[in-house]
Amino acid sequence: MKSTKRESDEHFLEESVQVYLRFSDGRWVLDRPTLDGAPLDSVLTGGASNSECECGDPAGCERARAVADQAPLPNAEDLYALLLEALA
Ligand SMILES: [Zn+2]
Repeated sequence: MKSTKRESDEHFLEESVQVYLRFSDGRWVLDRPTLDGAPLDSVLTGGASNSECECGDPAGCERARAVADQAPLPNAEDLYALLLEALA
């Protein structure tokens, strides 16, 4: 039997988070809800999405999607680390 981690790695799962901004002194800055340390809010109404996965295994794909949907979304500090990793 495959482990959960391995199964999720076989599927293309997506999420999107909101970064709240406010206009201050003529420019956009991060707003307080973004910086409260809590996981950022999802933009997706149905949680994690597997709509772009081409695995051909709907049941396994849904199990992997459900597992991903339970993982906490990044908070602002986590997002900073992800951006730094991707842009470095
Ligand atoms: Zn899949």
